[in-house]
Amino acid sequence: MSSVTDRPPLPRPVRIHDTLRGEVVPLVPRVSPRVGMFVCGLTPYKPSHLGHGRTFVFFDVVARFLRQQGYRVFYLQNVTDLDDKTLAQAREEGTSYFEVSERNFSGYVRDMERLGVRSVNLYARCTDYVPEILLQIQELMAKGFAYPGPTGDVYYEVSRFPSFGALSRQRMEEVRPGARVEVDPHKRAPEDFVIWKGGNPDEPAWPSPYGPGRPGWHIEDTAITVTVLGPRYEIHGGGVELKFPHHEAEIALAESATGLAPLAQIWMHAGLLNMRGEKMSKSLGNVVGLSETLHEQPPDRVRFFLLSGLYRSPLDFAGEESFAEAARGLERLRAPYDRLRALRADAEGGGADHRRELPASFRERSERVVEAIRGALAEDFNVRQAVAEMYGWGREVNTVLQGGESLLASGLDVLLEPFRFADESLGFLELREGVPSPSSPGPEIGALVDLALKARESARRRGDFPEADRIREGLAGAGIALEDTPQGPRWKRRGGT
Ligand SMILES: [Zn+2]
Repeated sequence: MSSVTDRPPLPRPVRIHDTLRGEVVPLVPRVSPRVGMFVCGLTPYKPSHLGHGRTFVFFDVVARFLRQQGYRVFYLQNVTDLDDKTLAQAREEGTSYFEVSERNFSGYVRDMERLGVRSVNLYARCTDYVPEILLQIQELMAKGFAYPGPTGDVYYEVSRFPSFGALSRQRMEEVRPGARVEVDPHKRAPEDFVIWKGGNPDEPAWPSPYGPGRPGWHIEDTAITVTVLGPRYEIHGGGVELKFPHHEAEIALAESATGLAPLAQIWMHAGLLNMRGEKMSKSLGNVVGLSETLHEQPPDRVRFFLLSGLYRSPLDFAGEESFAEAARGLERLRAPYDRLRALRADAEGGGADHRRELPASFRERSERVVEAIRGALAEDFNVRQAVAEMYGWGREVNTVLQGGESLLASGLDVLLEPFRFADESLGFLELREGVPSPSSPGPEIGALVDLALKARESARRRGDFPEADRIREGLAGAGIALEDTPQGPRWKRRGGT
């Protein structure tokens, strides 16, 4: 018999690919088991799209898995709530940058909730950190890394940081903007970048020693991370498209300002989501909105699709086909998992005397599968391998359940364990089925339906069939259709898929 004391000590080892070193390295927290994790967040000038979904669902898995492995993760995401694009969008709509970014950010948070993203500790808005940004600019000026221009802009002087370009493996000559790019004549060198944007009287501005203005892009992240996570932390993540120049700039700013290196122990980059082989971009007009998708597809299917493939490689989205494939994959897991859960609920209802023990060999196999899933995720988050292990386990469960459904609850728990273990990080099985309609926001509908289903089940168990039927009719009146399957009741919103 194994007991809690036999388990390996927490936190358990995890290895992650670090872009800077170009290899898979062990995660070694500065103060174990604490892990500071920062992921570049949204610029909410437009509603979020499926590509955002891929990045942020993946990093949700990272945070969940590390917590599951015993790390105490503080997961920080910034929100670039003010920049040139937000101001342009606000002008187009005839409203304020605040209205634009708050509306789109709320939509993003709602989509993330639907997708089961629940690991972020803090969303830090850039405009809430202007004093910290100005403090960092002052430090950079005092140390000679930054200089003011004549129009109220402040620049970072890239040549003062010789390792600029290391993350994206470019030499200094290569990071210089090409001759065709129009360069601000006040810069000492074309690669220098703005960290404080001098006042344009029509734009929102904060007072500063350089005159009224607003923060440049890169410095908001370093001011926020130094403030919240400290000068050095464990994991910095983001989409691969941010590697250059944004992440190079972050390294240069933070390490110049604090004098401490490295800023992040591990740099993680999630691959792009492509649309039938092409980059998804606003200019190509092939952007798929996240909210629209979640109105058409069940969230578990979307999450499952976004987690398919390997996170560092591009993922191709082929429209409906991709979701159909995800639905098939998910069903291979749902069928055994939902069946086990239904049997588990029944087993709780009593009648233990004629139930049988699970054959002992299954305990060992269940533990081995849990270890295999853990191993796959602990080696640079190989979700594909973890899901393959779940498929294999699903097949074994289907076999053991053939004909013999009278297992004791303890045995059913053993069979459920690999699914539960995997889903604590991967999180698609926990998402409710059914598509929320546009008029009914929020995932709480699933919880309410489940509550009603439980009441209906217990009515049936007591033999109170009129009551069970009343509950079914009540749900139907609310647009929820029930279907009783051998795996237990399933529900969907009428008109949904
Ligand atoms: Zn960033």
